[in-house]
Amino acid sequence: MKVRSSAACALKLTAHAVSERVIPIIAQPLGNLPLPSLVDGAEALAGASLKDRLQRPLRDLRISVTDRCNFRCSYCMPKEIFNSDYTYLPHSALLSFEEITRTAKSFIALGVEKIRLTGGEPLLRKNLEVLVEQLAALQTASGKPLDITLTTNGSLMPRKAQSLKDAGLKRVTISLDGLDDAVFKSMNDVDFPVSDVLEGIAAAQAAGLGPIKVNMVVKRGTNEQEILPMARYFKGTGIALRFIEYMDVGATNGWRMNEVMPSADVLKMLQSEFSLMPLAPSQIGETAERWGYLNAQGEHEPHLGEVGFISSVTQAFCSDCNRARLTTEGQLYLCLFATQGYDLKSLVRENQDPNALTQAIAAIWSQRADRYSELRQAGKDASNASADQANATRRKVEMSYIGG
Ligand code: SAM
Ligand code: SF4
Ligand code: SF4
Repeated sequence: MKVRSSAACALKLTAHAVSERVIPIIAQPLGNLPLPSLVDGAEALAGASLKDRLQRPLRDLRISVTDRCNFRCSYCMPKEIFNSDYTYLPHSALLSFEEITRTAKSFIALGVEKIRLTGGEPLLRKNLEVLVEQLAALQTASGKPLDITLTTNGSLMPRKAQSLKDAGLKRVTISLDGLDDAVFKSMNDVDFPVSDVLEGIAAAQAAGLGPIKVNMVVKRGTNEQEILPMARYFKGTGIALRFIEYMDVGATNGWRMNEVMPSADVLKMLQSEFSLMPLAPSQIGETAERWGYLNAQGEHEPHLGEVGFISSVTQAFCSDCNRARLTTEGQLYLCLFATQGYDLKSLVRENQDPNALTQAIAAIWSQRADRYSELRQAGKDASNASADQANATRRKVEMSYIGG
């Protein structure tokens, strides 16, 4: 088990007692689960199609390429923990591009059709285009091109958009939590202006990295006043704005249920100004519930675009969850809220046999039964704030480490 910067964090805790935020000491990876025996993997592979214990296939792989970021969003990497005392992973601990590509091939052999690069801030990883190029050369098991996308805070997009597109990146999701500079700067906590993210979005658009999605985390009491301005701004631009419920991911952001703005409330706010209708999911396992804008005749008008709601807190979507997450240092996590991962790096580094890696992943996936959000929702009494709080401070892995 690795515990990073605990002394520094403990010191900061004292400061936090004053500001009444809950910041637990543990901030980083928690430990590994044992890899299953390869015999189990061979059995899992022998099935017609790999499924987990809840009959969910493996389709989507999220790869975190760095645990570092140039922002300090309070809901993700609070400054008090992720400060100059914080120890990030050394470069030698990161999977190399060649190792990532080799691992991705095993996932693809088991059904993965979509890869999302994330982090931390993925554009901080040097020469990321090289990785994109290696991944873009791969095909799905049925011979189709791989869907490769990336989630970014947009800050480096103006510099990187064209080279990423040239390397084979298909599209991007860019995070932006509001249009008001003061609100946005207080949320990214590094004084980063809105205009620079908008420039990043424009650069992605100009490079053809679309359809672009914009992610807005809504935190009650912080940025709900930005919901309507953001909707007005992106309506009709071809960019889908997605509202994300503030999640109790990780254990350092001091999450509280009363800071979550349920998607239902966001929708209600939008409907005070816009006519919207629910749209069918574009694919199974889609995280966002889609709503399209209507025209004056009450018909869905595709050119006006759509909004999406990612409601992990109030409306669990575990039953379709087909996502696996590979951390920066090669641990496989089966759920965003998991407390432990499987150390694939040792297998990737020590055993050059690609079948061994594929079999290990198959065995791990076939044993998967994770459904954190569903269980929480099922067991939750809405008035039971202390149960929510206990969940929030479970020693879950950090978002910046596992990738969003
Ligand atoms: N740095 C990149 C970015 O911000 O887009 C990629 C990594 S970030 C961890 C991926 C996504 O997770 C972002 O859209 C971010 O807003 C979201 N996110 C981070 N912490 C969150 C939280 N506690 N609740 C909901 N969404 C969160
Ligand atoms: Fe960085 Fe993204 Fe986390 Fe914000 S959400 S701190 S940009 S990794
Ligand atoms: Fe998937 Fe876990 Fe989220 Fe459920 S809680 S949708 S299993 S990542």
